[in-house]
Amino acid sequence: MKAWTLNQPGPLESRPLMFAEMPAPTPAEDEVLVKVHACGICRTDLHVVEGELPVRRSPLIPGHQIVGRIAALGSLVNDFAVGDRVGVAWLNRTCGVCRFCRAGRENLCERAMFTGWTVDGGYAEYTVAPAAFTYRLPDSFDDIQAAPLLCAGIIGYRCLRLTGIDENQWEGARLGLYGFGAAGHVCIQVARSRGAEVFVCTRDRERHQALAHELGAAWVGDADAEPPVMLDAAIIFAPAGELVPLALKAIGKGGTLVLGGIHMSPIPSFDYSLIYGERTIRSVANNTRDDGKKFLAEAARIPVRTHTQTFSFGQANDALIALKTDAVRGAGVLVID
Ligand SMILES: [Zn+2]
Ligand SMILES: [Zn+2]
Repeated sequence: MKAWTLNQPGPLESRPLMFAEMPAPTPAEDEVLVKVHACGICRTDLHVVEGELPVRRSPLIPGHQIVGRIAALGSLVNDFAVGDRVGVAWLNRTCGVCRFCRAGRENLCERAMFTGWTVDGGYAEYTVAPAAFTYRLPDSFDDIQAAPLLCAGIIGYRCLRLTGIDENQWEGARLGLYGFGAAGHVCIQVARSRGAEVFVCTRDRERHQALAHELGAAWVGDADAEPPVMLDAAIIFAPAGELVPLALKAIGKGGTLVLGGIHMSPIPSFDYSLIYGERTIRSVANNTRDDGKKFLAEAARIPVRTHTQTFSFGQANDALIALKTDAVRGAGVLVID
């Protein structure tokens, strides 16, 4: 098969991903072999390729928003058939026995494996994944539309959950979103369908701010702008620590600030008054399979419409450069065939 491999992390401008020919992987007994049709690009891929996340495997095939069809089954897999359309996401495998797995918090598993970081991912014609961590995808999404749901969508969903706003409190809730890329543009659709008013702070007037207006934001401003109302909760998707004190300033008493990224630049120190009044800051780390299933069902019900910009299989480095320079509107997707 053909695949993109990372041998040595480095700045994207040096085009660190290499196009290689290699044997297709063989599924283990509990795995499925997936013929990849589309793979979403994610800011985490950028952090992996540029080395902000430590190297966990080398060479590595990145990519963790994989949509494809099952081409072969391991001997123990009996809940899927060859030809089934499936999605493979970031959480690749958990141990099932650590204190987190036993407590229903498998996203924090001590021995978790991650697609496109600790195991090979989907910038390739084929990939393997454990059947138990493979999602069935609602028919209403085509392959390209479905890809960004698998990380950007699921993580945004978990961020909404961790705001602490209950199901029956969403109507009229005021939510701030900082950064408006792939995750933000799905998250706003879920929040609005629940009845929230959404205030978006983001750089890039031409693409990100325009898309936020189009998707019904109550107000849109620059990354460091102050929303016109006190927010009940906010989510920071941008990897910029300097946004933390700004977002805290915009949140009312008792509100929660959720940090949605896997990596963030250092957070500047700030005055205690910004967090006093029982404001909470919490990060989101990965997701559980339950988050994934519930999100996909809600996304189909709404229905969420992903705005995608496609790149051909040969353009993996270019796609990540576009993501890095804010040149992608909505979510970027590599189309493998
Ligand atoms: Zn575990
Ligand atoms: Zn991701």
